[in-house]
Amino acid sequence: MKYTYPKIELHLHLDGSIRPETVWELYQKEGLVENGMDYETFTREVAVLEPCQDVNDCLTKFDLPLKIMQDAEYITRITKELVCDLAEQGVVYGEIRFAPQLHTQKGLTQREAIEAVLKGKEEGLKEHPEIGIGIILCCMSIGLETLNKEENLETVRLAKEYLGKGVNAIDLAGAEGIVPLRNFHYIFDLARELEIPFTCHGGDSQDCETVRDAMDFGAVRIGHGHAVYESPELCQRALQKGITFEICPTSNIRCRSRESYAAHPVKKLLDMGIRVTINTDNMTIFNVTLDEEYDHCLNDMGFTEADILKMLGYAAEAAFLPEEEKAKLVEKIKTYQK
Ligand SMILES: [Zn+2]
Repeated sequence: MKYTYPKIELHLHLDGSIRPETVWELYQKEGLVENGMDYETFTREVAVLEPCQDVNDCLTKFDLPLKIMQDAEYITRITKELVCDLAEQGVVYGEIRFAPQLHTQKGLTQREAIEAVLKGKEEGLKEHPEIGIGIILCCMSIGLETLNKEENLETVRLAKEYLGKGVNAIDLAGAEGIVPLRNFHYIFDLARELEIPFTCHGGDSQDCETVRDAMDFGAVRIGHGHAVYESPELCQRALQKGITFEICPTSNIRCRSRESYAAHPVKKLLDMGIRVTINTDNMTIFNVTLDEEYDHCLNDMGFTEADILKMLGYAAEAAFLPEEEKAKLVEKIKTYQK
């Protein structure tokens, strides 16, 4: 169903949300399409339509779009298209995240990757001035925390440089459970020192200790984080600190972090007063839109429309925006809550 209230998307990966027809076109252009592969098989290849093994298994799906996202022009086009898609879906504010270090395989620098995304954002905004777009730079967990420490620190420094000039915050994404999340504290130590707002993936496939780690970093937002439900102590801490959770129901189920929509604890968290929000994570990889997530909320998860509007209020209040802009967004949601 198409919901008419102003939608907010706080957790959306650029490389997981490319239009399938664009990946197909660029794959053909670059001669990357395997022999005998047709469009239909290809689109199945780029998506996780059934629950896969786990989060790290789902992550292999990013290899395909990332292969063509090594070219500044393509990155710009893909970003612009995503901005337009969000606007056309009725999203009034969306935060798009990507990891600059994943776009350097063919010689682009992290800075050039950021510039390419910011250019795409501007082009999208020219066509859809009604939408607000924030950009989050992801640091990556790819194995041992020392493996790409330099790259991660470079991302944080670039975030500082571009903060308020198109970039809104940083994040840590990638493989989970290889080393303890807390080993990546160096990213957030620097972010705090440089006063860069941040969110952090945690508490998804791994237990609630990763939520504790993210809270210890000082995160005001946590990507996924639904494992907090397993710890009354951490729920209490989340309540006290007003931490916002970026919940992505379909993603959690396809990555087998949760059994089903009905078994997802997000409604219980909301009823406890915890600030949860609903997001898609990856529109293409999970073949899902925000409207479809809301359908699941209403039909399979026990939410009411008032709950959705309440969560949109939480999303507005947690947006990585300057106070004045945030206030406008909060006001926009409030007029619908009445
Ligand atoms: Zn994510």
